[in-house]
Amino acid sequence: MSAYDFDLFVIGAGSGGVRASRMASGFGARVAVAEDTFLGGTCVNVGCVPKKLFVYGSHVPEEVEAAAGYGWSVAKPEFDWPTLRDNKTKEIQRLNGIYGNILANAGVELIEGRATIVDPNTVAVNGKQYTAERILIATGGWPKIPEIPGAEHIISSNEAFYLEEFPKRVMVLGGGYIAVEFAGIFNGLGADTELVYRGPLFLRGFDQEVREFTANEVAQKGVKLTFDTNIESVEKQANGELKVRLTDGSERIVDCVMAATGRAPKIDGLGLENTAVKLTESGTLAVNDDYQTDEPSIYAIGDVVGRMELTPVALAEGMALAKTLYNNQPTRVDYENIATAVFCQPNISTVGLTEEQALEKGMRLRIYTTSFKHMKHTLSGMPERTFMKLLVEDSSDKVVGCHMVGQDAGEIIQGIAVAMKAGATKADFDSTIGIHPTAAEEFVTMRDVTRVVG
Ligand code: NDP
Repeated sequence: MSAYDFDLFVIGAGSGGVRASRMASGFGARVAVAEDTFLGGTCVNVGCVPKKLFVYGSHVPEEVEAAAGYGWSVAKPEFDWPTLRDNKTKEIQRLNGIYGNILANAGVELIEGRATIVDPNTVAVNGKQYTAERILIATGGWPKIPEIPGAEHIISSNEAFYLEEFPKRVMVLGGGYIAVEFAGIFNGLGADTELVYRGPLFLRGFDQEVREFTANEVAQKGVKLTFDTNIESVEKQANGELKVRLTDGSERIVDCVMAATGRAPKIDGLGLENTAVKLTESGTLAVNDDYQTDEPSIYAIGDVVGRMELTPVALAEGMALAKTLYNNQPTRVDYENIATAVFCQPNISTVGLTEEQALEKGMRLRIYTTSFKHMKHTLSGMPERTFMKLLVEDSSDKVVGCHMVGQDAGEIIQGIAVAMKAGATKADFDSTIGIHPTAAEEFVTMRDVTRVVG
């Protein structure tokens, strides 16, 4: 029996922290986890889960519109924001309970309160000190809002999930995952929506063709896209409206401004000054390949480390750490070919390299692309199109990148990610028989090279 109160003290009961805690406990470690806000972290409470529920809700008017082509006459749908908001909140509370049970059933001690590291083996919560052989920081991130005049009138995605009233006119600032997803949500739910992004085209880092295709589709759905522009100031008018001044000199009157301008590691008040933990240039916690910080007894995983700010990555990191430390099974996360989806409308999903990244690596590529109207929209009358792109390394015939913009892209790309992880070649794709009629079958029937580059 060690002299410490716990073998592992985890700070933060989000995706990574909960996974690491319960696995470590399952391997026989004595584990405590401290949480000061909500069980399940960003993903469950103000991220992936409520966002996806809102995305489902925001697709309904389109489905109703599409119904006419299939012979249904449906009255114009009426939207009640409090119903969606509160049903979502009930579901989140149910999930919070499930997370509590998961921890309890795994024998992990949950300590509710804000944890501060006192020394490399001691954590204080609510004035009480606990010792631990190891401490794991899994505190995640928090939205950043630019420091501009009137920033206090700007909300982040955290508040968007709980708005008192649904805004009629919304401006979303940013060009990353959250901005594009929320622009689709607000627009789909009926708000007059404008997305303002400081660069020439949103979704920096995604494949250029995917970005261009998505911009067309998103604009066609009704989101006003304003690029190469930023917000200069926000001023609240006497009647509660917000006057937004943009860097191009123009002004807008809106009811809500939401910034999705990145997230910062949540480390305020964590007591890092009492340790040798170091930060990276971007302000995340510096760790080695085994998630150990510069303070040997302290580890960190998930968004606070910021390798890839994705729930499944935090889960994988939590599992790897627990196996390594408590199951004598050294494990590292493979960050290659991690599939991801942006739940904008239509969805984007992608795995592997972008064309730009592959060219930078010096690859000669055969590129296969296709763009078509989804079968559903032949009768729905809707103009939405689907885009698919396969990047094949010419010398090895290996599929090194796969991208899709279209309905259910995330559902489709998940399977392709398995094939790519297994090293599938274009010949493997070609010899796979399609499932007909689906959009997904296009990935195994693209025969003609669109272009060769590199
Ligand atoms: P991102 O870092 O993805 O995007 C931030 C955006 O804000 C960029 O377009 C950036 O521009 C812009 N920006 C940054 N600072 C400013 C500023 N001062 N003024 C104006 N614009 C600014 O952050 P998000 O907040 O969208 O999301 C955080 C992370 O969460 C994502 O990277 C992703 O990993 C994860 N996430 C994943 C989801 C999913 O899997 N579906 C969903 C939501 C989030 P520029 O491009 O010029 O830097």
